[in-house]
Amino acid sequence: MSTFESVIGLEIHAQLLTRTKIFCGCPTSFGAPPNAHVCPVCLGLPGALPVLNEHAVECAVTAALALGCEVQLRSVFARKNYFYPDLPKGYQISQYEWPLARGGGVEIQAGGTTRFVRLTRIHMEEDAGKSLHEGFADSDRRTYLDFNRSGVPLVEIVSEPDMRSAEEAASFFERLRQMLVWLGVNDGNMDEGSLRCDANVSVRPKGSEVLGTKAEIKNVNSFRYLQKAIEYEIGRQVDVIEHGGRVVQETRLFDAAQGKTYTMRSKEEAHDYRYFPEPDLPPLVVDEARREALRAALPELPEARAGRFQTAYGLPAYDAALLTETREIADYFEATATASGHAKAASNWVMGEVLRTMKERGIAITALPVAPGALAGLIRIVERGTISSTVAKDVFAKMGESGRSA
Ligand code: ADP
Ligand code: ZN
Ligand code: MG
Repeated sequence: MSTFESVIGLEIHAQLLTRTKIFCGCPTSFGAPPNAHVCPVCLGLPGALPVLNEHAVECAVTAALALGCEVQLRSVFARKNYFYPDLPKGYQISQYEWPLARGGGVEIQAGGTTRFVRLTRIHMEEDAGKSLHEGFADSDRRTYLDFNRSGVPLVEIVSEPDMRSAEEAASFFERLRQMLVWLGVNDGNMDEGSLRCDANVSVRPKGSEVLGTKAEIKNVNSFRYLQKAIEYEIGRQVDVIEHGGRVVQETRLFDAAQGKTYTMRSKEEAHDYRYFPEPDLPPLVVDEARREALRAALPELPEARAGRFQTAYGLPAYDAALLTETREIADYFEATATASGHAKAASNWVMGEVLRTMKERGIAITALPVAPGALAGLIRIVERGTISSTVAKDVFAKMGESGRSA
């Protein structure tokens, strides 16, 4: 193992937080009865024509700008042709040669090192429907189809093969999730499939500059599974090579119960998607005025905000990183720090009791009965020496139950 280096590139699919689908007016909300959110367009009925959702474009451009990408003046939708029951048109509308955005990247921290992971591209596409193979009395004979997801807007974010460990890959995925949720363009809900990841993995002798043959692990939907799947895959590939074999290019799936990846299809069975420009949609033009308006509307980004928390409030980098995990936490901290006048105390409370209470109750910080102003009141009493910090913890717990002031 120590003579090998692993190389990883990720492809992340993120659902854009729009009210309606990308090419029709059907709702995107999760949890509706099967096939409640369908129309001729997203069912692919003959003669139905797609109309691009402007807000989906705004979400995608916002993500691209925040990730430092170059948003293209002109991008082109393309048909990706394949046959599958959950794809009623027989093609998925995606982008191919002319994606919405190119370049950009994010900085990640893993195993004590910092690395800049470059992005190749971001393109827009529609989601497919869902095949239900289980859960019905006749599931041994029948597959059911739900087209509620069909036509839900996605961006696919493709990274360069810049990661060198499973930990870095998980960290990259986490960082992208944080950013997309922060921007309000994705809900970060991996259980509901709003965020999914394919991992491309290869190994090569240390010091080598050429890429090894990669395997692609499809559809991993948690950080932990992503890391486990990649770790297993690296080990498997090294093992193949050390036993005199060669890694074959293929698509694999991760079995979480067994902690192993297994072959789904080999390169010989790989699709030829016969991409061609979508004749029913004009090229997408994002002119400079629109692009710059969206850039101007970007919120202060997590890294910048963490930097400001260090300089403006004198917080350690550790605190600043934790407090900027989500925008709501950052807002809560900042409101508490301002109202109490004790930034480090506010930071300690948020990182301690506040996050613990949220976790225990499984609630968002915005649903916490203790508002920033109330926590600031408690902090002032402690700082004045009226009560000890041990007593303050009990007071905080009571405030969390009653919603009353300290
Ligand atoms: P494909 O044509 O198989 O889709 P791409 O070149 O489009 O391959 O790359 C898809 C993803 O795989 C990208 O995230 C890229 O960084 C990654 N990738 C490409 N080659 C390798 C490799 N040898 N090892 C690991 N990842 C790779
Ligand atoms: Zn529809
Ligand atoms: Mg590709």
